[in-house]
Amino acid sequence: MMDLRAELAAAARDFYGRGWMLGTAGNLSARREDGFWITASGRPKDRLQQEDFVALDLDGRVLEAVAGRRPSAESSIHRVIYRHFPEARVIFHVHSVEANICGNFARDGRLRLPPLEMLKGLGIPDAEPRVDLPVFANHVEVAQIAADMDTAFAREKPAVPGALIHLHGMTAWGRDFDAARHHLELFEYCFRYLSLARLHGLGGES
Ligand SMILES: [Zn+2]
Repeated sequence: MMDLRAELAAAARDFYGRGWMLGTAGNLSARREDGFWITASGRPKDRLQQEDFVALDLDGRVLEAVAGRRPSAESSIHRVIYRHFPEARVIFHVHSVEANICGNFARDGRLRLPPLEMLKGLGIPDAEPRVDLPVFANHVEVAQIAADMDTAFAREKPAVPGALIHLHGMTAWGRDFDAARHHLELFEYCFRYLSLARLHGLGGES
């Protein structure tokens, strides 16, 4: 089986190629028995090496790190998600143009996803076309974003495995690498659809 770090590096290269992790943006993580591996801060996402990952426990303590490598500044967000969603084993957080356009379409902390067939892939049955994605305010202090998510998820779990940070980026999770990637792709497809629908004067929302 591929090392988790190698799988994360491969995913980062893929997402970098799609323009979702430019300028060292974004962070990816995967659960290991005692915590999770997460991308180190400030590393180019198209050529991550084994030393560009840091292992943390769910309280944020460093379990393994090469000298000079710090965990992603946004690791507190990953910790909140792993704590609230025990089924989540992989988390992908990326910064796409379309996600940032769509944050502007949110109302009261929610973005209504377009009622597309593809929502099935996010675990939404056909009969439920009204699906909201939670949208959080961005803060310079990442701890504040994580605290907001912690409060919101304790109150109500989102209907879909993801959350958007306004003018910042998307976070999606899944039970394994394939599931997390499929979820992220479906969210990003929805964002592209919504962006283009607005551009062409279509409603796009239900
Ligand atoms: Zn980010």
